[in-house]
Amino acid sequence: MNIDVGVIGATGMVGQRFISLLSDHPWFNLTALAASERSAGKRYSKAADWVLNEDMPNSVRDIEVVETKPGFQADIVFSALPSDIAKKVEPQFAEQGYIVASNASAYRMAEDVPLLIPEVNPEHIDLIDIQREQRDWDGAIITNPNCSSIILTLPVTPIAREFGITDLRVATLQAVSGAGYTGVPSMAIVDNVIPYIGGEEDKVETEIQKMLGDLEDGKIKHRDFNVTATCNRVPVLDGHLENLWIETEEKTTVDEIKETMAKFEGEPQKLDLPTAPKNPVIITEQDDRPQTRLDRNKQNGMSVTAGRIRGENEIQMTILGHNTIRGAAGASILNAELLAKKQKI
Ligand code: NAP
Repeated sequence: MNIDVGVIGATGMVGQRFISLLSDHPWFNLTALAASERSAGKRYSKAADWVLNEDMPNSVRDIEVVETKPGFQADIVFSALPSDIAKKVEPQFAEQGYIVASNASAYRMAEDVPLLIPEVNPEHIDLIDIQREQRDWDGAIITNPNCSSIILTLPVTPIAREFGITDLRVATLQAVSGAGYTGVPSMAIVDNVIPYIGGEEDKVETEIQKMLGDLEDGKIKHRDFNVTATCNRVPVLDGHLENLWIETEEKTTVDEIKETMAKFEGEPQKLDLPTAPKNPVIITEQDDRPQTRLDRNKQNGMSVTAGRIRGENEIQMTILGHNTIRGAAGASILNAELLAKKQKI
C-alpha cells in the first residue's frame, strides 16, 4: 500500500506525534503539513517548537508549512486542529474528497460520523457510506475519541461484553500534554493538581456509550449505562492514569475480569495493522503499577496497562495509557489503517 497523507494542525502537540509516527510508516507517505497563518510559508523546523524526546525527523525539517485549506496532494488528512477550527475546516476537506481522520471533538457525536476504536467498534466504519450519501461528499470524516475516553474504553469493552455494566465511575489524573502546546501555564501546574478540565467530564461520560452502541438500520443505538467522571490535571508530561469503579450486571470475580481483559483483541490484531499493539490491554500484577512514567510507552504507547484489580461486588482498578499516542495520533493512524485495509479510502 502507498497512500499520500497530510497533517493539519501539524505544529502542535498532537501534530508532532503524527509526524513522528508517520515518518517511517510502511503504508503512509507524508506529503503535506498545514497549520495556522502564523506558521504557513515557514519551513517546518522554524514553524514548530518541537517538544518530543525523539528528534524531529530530517524528512520534514525543510517542508514548507501550508495554509489549512484543501488543495494539497493527499488521500488522507490527519487533523490535529482545535475543535472550533476543525468544525469549519474538516467538512471542506471531506467535500473535496479527502478522508479526514480527526482528533478534534467537533464531529465525534454527529450521528453519521464514526467514533472509532478499531478494537472496539470497527463495524461503525459503515457509517461512512451514509455520511457520503447524506452530505454529498466524496471524502468523509472519521474521528477518534477523547484521550481519556480511549484509555477507558479499551479495558472496559471486554468487561461490558462478557459481564454487562450497570455503573461505571472514573477519576482521571491527566498529563499536561493533553492540553496541547502551550496548554497549561507552568505557574499553574508545577507543584499542583487542578481538579477541573473544561468539557472533559462530559466527553468521558458520553463517548463510550456511542462506541459500545450497536449499528442498526444506519444508526448507532447508544449503550445505556451510567458513567460518572471526575477529571484532574496533574504535573506529568505524558500519560493519563485513571481509577475505575465498575458494577457489572452479572456477578464475576477478579480472576475472570483479568482473564477477559488479557485475552481481548480485535480487528487490528487479526489484520496485523502496522500500528496495532499485540495486546490492547496489558495486566500488571505488581501492587504499585501501573505508573505513569514506567508504563506509558508499553507496546510503542499503544497499549493500556491495567493493575490493582480488586473488589467483589464492585470491581476497582487503575489503568494507564499514553494520551498523545493511544489517546490521539496513534489512534487516528490505526483508524486510517483500518479504513485502508477495508478499502474504504
Ligand atoms: P495544540 O498543541 O494547541 O496545536 C494546535 C494546532 O492547530 C497547531 O498546529 C496550530 O498551528 C493549529 N491551529 C491553531 N489555530 C489554527 C487556525 N486558525 N487555522 C489552522 N490551524 C490552526 O493542540 P493539540 O494538543 O495538538 O490538540 C489538537 C486537537 O487534538 C484538539 O482538538 C485536541 O482537543 C485534540 N486532542 C488532543 C489530545 C492531546 O493529548 N493533546 C488528545 C486527544 C485529542 P500554529 O502552530 O500555526 O498555531
